[in-house]
Amino acid sequence: MTDESMLAQSLPRPHKKRTLLNELPPLPMTVIGWQGIRCVLPPEWNLTSFSMEREAGYIRADAPGDAAVTVQIRWQDAAETDRKVGTLYDVFAPKVRKLLGRPAPQQKPPDLRRLLNKVLKDAGKSAKKAGTSFESSTRPEKVEGDELERTAIPFSWVGGGRGQGKIWHCTKCNRVVVAQVIGIARDGGQVQSVAAGLFATLRDHSDDSLDLWALYDLQVKIPETFKLHQQQVMSGHLRLVFIRGGEMIVIDRWGLASMTLKKFKLEEWLATNVTVRLKSMDASVLTLQSGHEAHYYTGRLNLMDRFKVFRSARGLARPLAVRFEGGVWLCEDQNRIYSVQALTSRKTTGLWKMVADSVICCQ
Ligand SMILES: [Zn+2]
Ligand SMILES: [Zn+2]
Repeated sequence: MTDESMLAQSLPRPHKKRTLLNELPPLPMTVIGWQGIRCVLPPEWNLTSFSMEREAGYIRADAPGDAAVTVQIRWQDAAETDRKVGTLYDVFAPKVRKLLGRPAPQQKPPDLRRLLNKVLKDAGKSAKKAGTSFESSTRPEKVEGDELERTAIPFSWVGGGRGQGKIWHCTKCNRVVVAQVIGIARDGGQVQSVAAGLFATLRDHSDDSLDLWALYDLQVKIPETFKLHQQQVMSGHLRLVFIRGGEMIVIDRWGLASMTLKKFKLEEWLATNVTVRLKSMDASVLTLQSGHEAHYYTGRLNLMDRFKVFRSARGLARPLAVRFEGGVWLCEDQNRIYSVQALTSRKTTGLWKMVADSVICCQ
């Protein structure tokens, strides 16, 4: 079984259609954030598949219920798109430049037309396999974005389904992104309206070096220097683990908080879910920006704890984590428990508070 199909199995069922629609406030829009890519989609959409890598990857989000409309976003570092067989120097040049503190040489912009032709050719092949005709159209290249950082080509196709999308290169993050909304052929109107919302909100880099990670109502900001290391996406428990050398951030969110809290106090629940021993740590209560009160623990990692952390992260990667900060809080409105742990080096300060403050839950 592939990672994707396992993921699909562990995702929660789409919500049942609500009754008395007129009496309920409008549902919130769906915010998706993954590897620096973020966008806003209509209410109750869900991230249904994703890749772990930052340099080149994809996400897919699906409309709720039986709707056949889906959003696919692929991205790649532009330096990778034209790569031929590299020489040994090509492989080491970026490292040498980094050591010497020299800027990377100006790269020629990627050939978006060529890349787009490949995307459309692949879509055409699938249509042919399904025995339907295929037609595509592309619009002229244009420059766009808040700081005119994007060169983009919009495109659309019909054949076995329909797609409306855009390919662009961003000079700020040097990513090439292909994003499209795909639906069945007669869903033209819906595909168009989802695409309008998608392209108005889709961003491929953050302006504050903090990546928004957003899925299943979880929204948290993590410094982009941390890489996603592990994920667990289940309806009752979401976990994202990020590492930077030997440093680590762990985000957990559990559903059905009221059931859990019949058996455990919040602090006990945290103690059973962290790798370190909380007993020797300093405990306090902190108010987060969300207004929630977090039970907060901090202290130096002892040798035993460090050993456990090394094993769950990447061995003896540097900088070594020497300090633990962890906290847990309840969001009553959502009936969910959140916890954030930060295992940091001597030099890193304020990370836990920044990450915990960035969590958006019931606001
Ligand atoms: Zn960018
Ligand atoms: Zn809340």
